[in-house]
Amino acid sequence: MSIRFSVEYFPPKTEEGIERLAAAHARFSALKPDYCSVTYGAGGSTRDRTLRTIQALQGSVPIAPHLSCIGDSRTSLLELLQIYRNMGIHRIVALRGDLPSGQVALGELPYARDLVALIQEFDATQFEIAVAAYPEVHPQAESAERDLRHFIAKIEAGAQEAITQYFYNPDAYWSFCDRLKALGCHVPIIPGIMPITQVSNLLRFSDACGAEIPRWLRKRLADFSDDPIAIRQFGAEVVTRLCEQLLQQGAPSLHFYSMNQLEATLTILQGLGRA
Ligand code: FAD
Repeated sequence: MSIRFSVEYFPPKTEEGIERLAAAHARFSALKPDYCSVTYGAGGSTRDRTLRTIQALQGSVPIAPHLSCIGDSRTSLLELLQIYRNMGIHRIVALRGDLPSGQVALGELPYARDLVALIQEFDATQFEIAVAAYPEVHPQAESAERDLRHFIAKIEAGAQEAITQYFYNPDAYWSFCDRLKALGCHVPIIPGIMPITQVSNLLRFSDACGAEIPRWLRKRLADFSDDPIAIRQFGAEVVTRLCEQLLQQGAPSLHFYSMNQLEATLTILQGLGRA
C-alpha cells in the first residue's frame, strides 16, 4: 500500500531545540512526507519562533506554516504572507486559533473563514490552503449542523483541503465525510493522527479540544498508568490499526501530530510499512 502522509511540529522554544528538531526532521525527509507543518501560537505569540523554525527546516520537503487569525491584525498577517511568499512557501494551514484565557478581543478576523478569504485576496495562486475539520464537532460549535456549514464556508472561501482534529473513532470521520459529500463538498479530508505517548497529557488535551477518547481506550490506558514503555507499545498498536483501517477504507493521506516526539510517529510509520 502506498501511503501519503504529512507531519506537524511545534516551534521549539530555544535555538538548540530548533537545531535538534531540524536534525530529526532530516530523518523524516528521507521518508518523503508530502509536507511538514509548523504550528503558530494564537495572537502571534510564536510568530518569530514559527518563522525561525520554518527557515531552519526548509529543504527537500515542503514546509507549511500554520497561521491563525484570532487576536491578530490584518496588517501583521499580510506581512507574514508576504514573507512566506518571498520564501517560496506554497501551502498554509489556516486556522482561527484559541484566545489565551482572559483575552477577549477577537481582532479583525474572528473566524478561519476570514483568514482564508484574506489569503485569497493577498494572492489567489501562491498558496494551497488547508483548514481544520472536526469530525466529533468543534467544542464551541452552536450545533453539529452549523459547524458543518461553517466548515463548508471555509472551503467556499478558497480552502482546498482539510486536516481533522484527531480522533480514535473512525466512524466519526467517515460519517463527517459522508455528510460533506451529501452536501456536494468533495475536498480531501485528511485524518489528523495523534500518537499515544503520555496518558495524562492526552486526556487533558482531549477534554480541552473536544476529541473523544473512547471508554475502552481510556480504561486500557488506565491499566498501564505507571508504565510508559507499555503505554507507548499499546498506543502504537492502537494508532497503527486506526491508520490501517482509515487507509484501507480510502482516506487520502494521514497528518501526524508529532508533538515533536518523532519516535512515536516513526514507530507507527514502520508499522504501516512506510519507514
Ligand atoms: P473556525 O473554523 O473559525 O471555527 C471555530 C468555531 O467557530 C467553530 O465552532 C465554528 O463552528 C464556529 N464558527 C465558524 N464560523 C462562524 C460564524 N460565521 N459564526 C458563528 N460561528 C462560527 N491553533 C493554533 O492556535 N495554532 C495552530 O497552529 C493550530 N493548528 C491546528 C491544526 C489543526 C489540523 C487543527 C484541527 C487545529 C489546530 N489549531 C491550532 C486549533 C484551532 O485553532 C482551534 O481548534 C480553534 O478553536 C478553531 O479553529 P478553526 O480554524 O477550526 O476555527
